[in-house]
Amino acid sequence: MKRTVEELVRDNIRSLVPYSTARDEYKGSLGVFLDANESPYENGYNRYPPVQRALKEQVSRLKGVVPERVFLGNGSDEAIDLCFRVFCEPGQDNAIAITPSYGMYRVAAAINDIAMREVPLGPNYSLPTKALLAAADERTKLLFLCSPNNPTGNCFDRETMLALADDFDGMVVVDEAYIDFADRESLITALDDHPNLIVLQTLSKAWGMAGLRLGMAFASERVISLFSQVKYPYNINVATMRLVSRLLAEPIDDRVAEIRSQRKRVIAELNGCPCVEKVWPSEANFVLVKVGDARGLYQALIDGGVIVRDRSKMVDCENSLRITVGTPEENDRMLSIVRDYRSC
Ligand SMILES: *Cc1c(COP(=O)(O)O)cnc(C)c1O
Repeated sequence: MKRTVEELVRDNIRSLVPYSTARDEYKGSLGVFLDANESPYENGYNRYPPVQRALKEQVSRLKGVVPERVFLGNGSDEAIDLCFRVFCEPGQDNAIAITPSYGMYRVAAAINDIAMREVPLGPNYSLPTKALLAAADERTKLLFLCSPNNPTGNCFDRETMLALADDFDGMVVVDEAYIDFADRESLITALDDHPNLIVLQTLSKAWGMAGLRLGMAFASERVISLFSQVKYPYNINVATMRLVSRLLAEPIDDRVAEIRSQRKRVIAELNGCPCVEKVWPSEANFVLVKVGDARGLYQALIDGGVIVRDRSKMVDCENSLRITVGTPEENDRMLSIVRDYRSC
C-alpha cells in the first residue's frame, strides 16, 4: 500500500499552525498601517511585500492551473529545499535522484542531513525506471527527476514518468526548468491524477529573469499550503514582484523560437567539427558535447573569451562540455573556436 501525502509529511510540519499577520486580516485599502513597525515615509519599498495573490493569479493564468496550486519561491532552489524540509526527517529519511542531473538536489539533501541515493541513467541517458524503484525503501520520501534533464538535454517520456509516479511510494519531483524550450507538454496537466507529483519551473531560463530569483512549484493544494507554511513569510521581495509582473506580460515566443533555431544550427555545426565525437540531442537551451579532449577544448574556449561548463567529472559524461545556446553572434564565436581546435 502506498502512503498518502499526509502520511509522507514530517510530523512536526503536519501539525504546524499557519502564521498570519495583522495585515492579512485587514481587507480595506484606506487603513493606516501601524502594525508592522515599518517606516511611514514612502520611497516605493518602505512596506513589507503584499500577499502573493496577484502574482500567483498571473502565473496561474499563464500556466492554466488554479492559484491554490501555485507556490512562488526565491528561485526553484527554494522549492527544492522545501521538499526536504516538508517531507524528510533529518538524519533518518532518504531521497533518490537520477545522475547526472542538477547538482542542487544533492546540495539541498546534504544541508538537510538527508542521504541522497543517486541512480545512473540508462543507455543514451534514458530513465532507469526499475533501478529507481529498486533504490527505494521505507525511509525514502522523495524522487527527483529533471526533464529536459540538465546536463544531458533530453526529455523523458511523459507516460513513463507518470507510471513511475504511480509506482513510487513517495513524492515525485519533476524539475521542468527547461520545459519552455521543449516540444512536450508540462506534467502540470497530470497533477489532478497524481497527488504525489510536484512540478518545478522557473523564470530563470526562457523567461530571462535569472537575476530576479523567481521559481515556481505546482502541486496539490495541500502540498502548496505546506510549502507556504514552511517558507519565510516574505520570500519574494517587492522589487521582484513588480518586475516579474511586468516582464511576464511580455511574450517570449520569439526569443524561444530563436534559441530553438540556434540550437538546431549549433548542433549541426558542432557535428561537423573534427574534435567533436558526439552531440547529444537537446530539448533545452544548451547542448552536451562529447569531445576527444574536453580539458583542452575548454581551455581553448576560455582563451578565446568563451566560457562553457566542463561536465567531464559527472557520471557518464567523460570528456563532455555543456554549452549554452546564445545569440547568433555568440554562437559564431564559440563555433569558430571549436571548428579550429585540432589537438585532440
Ligand atoms: C537552472 C536550473 C534551475 C533554476 O533554478 P533557479 O533557482 O530557479 O534559478 C532549476 N533546475 C535546473 C535543472 C536548472 O538547470
